[in-house]
Amino acid sequence: MGEFDLIERIRQRTAQAREDVVLGMGDDAALLNVSAGQHLVAATDTMVEGVHFLRGTAPADLGWKALAVNLSDLAAMGATPTWALLNLTMPAADATFVDGFADGFAQLARMHKLALVGGDTTQGPLSITVTALGVLPDGQALTRAGAQVGDALLVTGTLGDAVAGLRCLDRQHPDADALLQAPADTREFLLERLRRPTPRLAAGRLLRGVASACIDISDGLLVDLEHIGRASRVAAEIQLDRLPRSAALNAVFDAETAMQFALAGGDNYELCFSITPTKVHDAIADLSRLGCRATRIGRINAGSGVRVLDADGNEVHPRQRGWEHFRS
Ligand code: ADP
Ligand code: MG
Repeated sequence: MGEFDLIERIRQRTAQAREDVVLGMGDDAALLNVSAGQHLVAATDTMVEGVHFLRGTAPADLGWKALAVNLSDLAAMGATPTWALLNLTMPAADATFVDGFADGFAQLARMHKLALVGGDTTQGPLSITVTALGVLPDGQALTRAGAQVGDALLVTGTLGDAVAGLRCLDRQHPDADALLQAPADTREFLLERLRRPTPRLAAGRLLRGVASACIDISDGLLVDLEHIGRASRVAAEIQLDRLPRSAALNAVFDAETAMQFALAGGDNYELCFSITPTKVHDAIADLSRLGCRATRIGRINAGSGVRVLDADGNEVHPRQRGWEHFRS
C-alpha cells in the first residue's frame, strides 16, 4: 500500500459530483468555478493526535470531525460549503484507517454536497488538516465585528456537552468511577457531541442579514465572546443561569461543574451571535423551524471584556475561561 493507493481509496470513498468542479483530485491543482457576485470563503483547521483528539479515536469519527470543525467556521460566516482539501499525515499506510476516515468524512460531506477536490498524503505523526471552501453572496458575511451596544446575545443548541463527553473518557479523573455509573444513553449523548459535532450551517445562513456579529464556539463561550468584543469594540455580559445545558449534562455532572463546562468548555461548535433586540423573537422562531434551538444569554454593552453574572445579578469570576494553545 503506497501513497497513491491511499489517495485512490480516499477519492473513491468521497466521490461527489458538482458542476462547479472543472477539475477535481488528480492533477497538480483543482479548478473551481465561483459565480459572479459571490465571495469565496476559506477556512482551515488542524487536528493533532494527543492535542485535539485522543489516541485510539475511531477513524470514521475523526473523518467526520475534521470536516465538521471546518464547516462550523463556514457556518459562523453564513457561508454555504462547496469544496474541501484534505491534508492527511499518518505514521503508516493503514488502509483500514484511511477507509474509515474517508467514510466518516464522506458521510458529512454528502449531507452538504461538498466535493473533496485535493489534498496531500504524507507520513509522520497522525495529524489532519482540512481546508473548507464555500460561497456567500457578496457583502453578506457574518463577522465578529458588527456587534452593537444594546444588542442581545444568543447561542444555538446546548453548551458544555463535548467537554463533558471528554471527561467521561478520562479514566484518570477522580470522578471516573462515578461517571461510569451514569446511564449508558446519557453518556452516549455526551460522547456523540464530542465525536460527531453538527455544524450549524442552516442556522448560519438564516442569520445572514439578521445577526450583527457571529462566531462559532470552538474554544469555549467566554474566550470566543472575547473575540466578538475585541473585533466589535464592545463589552459582553452573560447570565450564568441562562446558559442552555442539555438534560444529559445536568444528569451526569453537579451544577457547579456543568456551569463551568457550559461557560468555558471547548469543542462546542454552536454559534454565538448578537442581534438587535426587536429581531430576537422572530430569529428564535425561525431557527426553531430549522430544528435549531436558540437561547438569549446576555447582551452587548459599551466598554470591553466579558462579564458573567449570577442569578442575583452579581458578577462572578470563573476559574477557567477556555482553551488556548501555547498557554499554560
Ligand atoms: P503533488 O505531488 O502534485 O503534490 P500528490 O501526489 O500529492 O500531488 O497528489 C496527487 C493528487 O491527489 C492531487 O490532485 C492532490 O490534490 C490529491 N490528493 C493527495 N492527497 C489527497 C488527500 N489526502 N485528499 C484528497 N486529495 C488528495
Ligand atoms: Mg502532494
